[in-house]
Amino acid sequence: MKIIILSFAFLAFSLGINAQDYRRLHYKAIVADTHNDVLSSVTMRGLDIDNDLTGKSHSDLARFRKGGVDVQVFSIFCDERFGKDTAFKFANIEIDSLYAIAKRNSYRMSIVTNPTQLAEAVREKKLAAMMGVEGGHMIEDKLENLDSLYKRGVRYMTLTWNNSTSWASSAKDETKGNIPNGQKGLNDFGKQVVKRMNELGMLVDLSHVGEQTFWDAIHTSTKPILVSHSCAYNLCPVFRNLKDDQIRAVGKNEGVICINFYSGFVDSNYQKRITAFISRHKTEMDSLVSIKKPDYEINEFFTKKYPVEATALRPPLSMLIDHIDYIAKLIGTNHIGLGSDFDGIESAPLGLDDVSAFPLITKALLQRGYTKKQVRQILGGNFLRVFAANSK
Ligand SMILES: [Zn+2]
Repeated sequence: MKIIILSFAFLAFSLGINAQDYRRLHYKAIVADTHNDVLSSVTMRGLDIDNDLTGKSHSDLARFRKGGVDVQVFSIFCDERFGKDTAFKFANIEIDSLYAIAKRNSYRMSIVTNPTQLAEAVREKKLAAMMGVEGGHMIEDKLENLDSLYKRGVRYMTLTWNNSTSWASSAKDETKGNIPNGQKGLNDFGKQVVKRMNELGMLVDLSHVGEQTFWDAIHTSTKPILVSHSCAYNLCPVFRNLKDDQIRAVGKNEGVICINFYSGFVDSNYQKRITAFISRHKTEMDSLVSIKKPDYEINEFFTKKYPVEATALRPPLSMLIDHIDYIAKLIGTNHIGLGSDFDGIESAPLGLDDVSAFPLITKALLQRGYTKKQVRQILGGNFLRVFAANSK
């Protein structure tokens, strides 16, 4: 009898009878996204997130609100073409741009650097904006630069982006067997960087780093670590997703893995579908690239011209939830968060069109059987715990 009642309840739920419930839960919860690239991919092109950028970007301030996003970590990023005398400078220009946005929009956002300020911004219904430096090359091998970035408000640093530094090897380079200085993992200076980050209260982010760097860093750090935008390797074996032993180590370290929404990290068949799509439309693709159309215009062109094919490229949202399930089964729900990578990716699972779509994650998690408490942890509670543990 009990079983019959339960299955009726499940049926009623899956029919969407509790639609109001998921929205209430979502907007009451603190939703934190640990990775968004809008500063480097959109703001630096001269577009202001103060304005409605629908169709041009995944993010703007109005859509963060619509999506119930309370805490957004903005990625401070430049690629490997920036190095000595340019990377640190560029990072500071991006930081300047975020401060300028916050100043213009002080009634709806504020830059926060500790858990108390964060709680205050959330209470005032403002977007709590944080900064994470994506790539250790931006400190240009100097601890003073790390200190300076901390002083300017940066609260995490991804030890490497796809490029290795002189002190840490990246996942891309370790996988290709192409380490610039020949040494895998962290060297002595790299370990000093991690220790200094612990002292400052800057989260050590292990997305993008090579496996050896991951192990060296997690063994060096005395604080819980962050993986700001990565998925599970066993479900989608790409070079920078996390293997099971790495996932278990994050659990043991009391850290948090924030799931990346990129279709190519979620679904192992995505790349094959994209390759086939590009070869079917090669002539058009080549001509758009040759006239230097920006990515979003190329995307828009193909999405409008071939809507059925474009939709078929994207995995279902359930595949993203599968990554959460997978990690939850290995280490529980205390170590999972969200790191969308919006505005750094050209494709996300169906429905996740931009930052206004976050409520769909809450809905899908409830439908998958997670409790409200677990959903609140995944939406932001776990990241806030790790942030607080590093801020002490
Ligand atoms: Zn990234």
